[in-house]
Amino acid sequence: MYRELKERVLRANLMLAKEGLITLTWGNVSEIDREAGVVAIKPSGVEYDNMTVDDIVVVDLDGNVVDGRLRPSSDTPTHLELYKSFKEIGGITHTHSRYATSWSQAGVPIPALGTTHADAFYGAVPVTREMTAAEIEGEYEKNTGVVIAECFTDENVMAIPAVLVASHGPFTWGKDAISSVKASIILEEVAFMAWHTLSLNPNAKISEALLDKHYMRKHGKDAYYGQGEKK
Ligand code: 13P
Repeated sequence: MYRELKERVLRANLMLAKEGLITLTWGNVSEIDREAGVVAIKPSGVEYDNMTVDDIVVVDLDGNVVDGRLRPSSDTPTHLELYKSFKEIGGITHTHSRYATSWSQAGVPIPALGTTHADAFYGAVPVTREMTAAEIEGEYEKNTGVVIAECFTDENVMAIPAVLVASHGPFTWGKDAISSVKASIILEEVAFMAWHTLSLNPNAKISEALLDKHYMRKHGKDAYYGQGEKK
């Protein structure tokens, strides 16, 4: 069941590992089928090297396993909370990639400093607030989704498809699983560049005009980057 969805999610998880954003079994990718009301996600704690399509787990929107023999990612409730909060999100990626996680641990948003950032993120990548002890001791993974959702509105969630969870790491999203992995790849690159840019010049910034130009030429209603399909 749900073969194509599971194959897409497997491909996205393997792409994440191949791109060097994964250490050991960290990270996870999922995709939602909104018509069927199910989410396919990486199994918890399974090596990426040996992962097969039959390892991918399908859950309903309450987190019940409807297909698969393994336990779903421990972060499944975070993914579900984001899918429920924002209808445009079709795929989600979580990593502990080195540079984005460093910014998360520092609790510092990644500012837009150049066109590499502006091509993908229409403004600073935000940091969540610290979770309370009650939120951590309660439904921790679901509450992680709650604090992420607090950083966004329906209007900007697809324009800045990334967040830094304080003291934890990044989550990114897109229209499907592969798009969310691409957002993680870009985020890591941008996190690396911003770190070095600010160490060379703490006052570096991009102008509003250049941020607008680069974001809109790729994602605006009159986008002209590429060959027709909006990136
Ligand atoms: P899972 O293997 O359960 O998805 O956990 C990976 C991880 O990075 C937890 O934050």
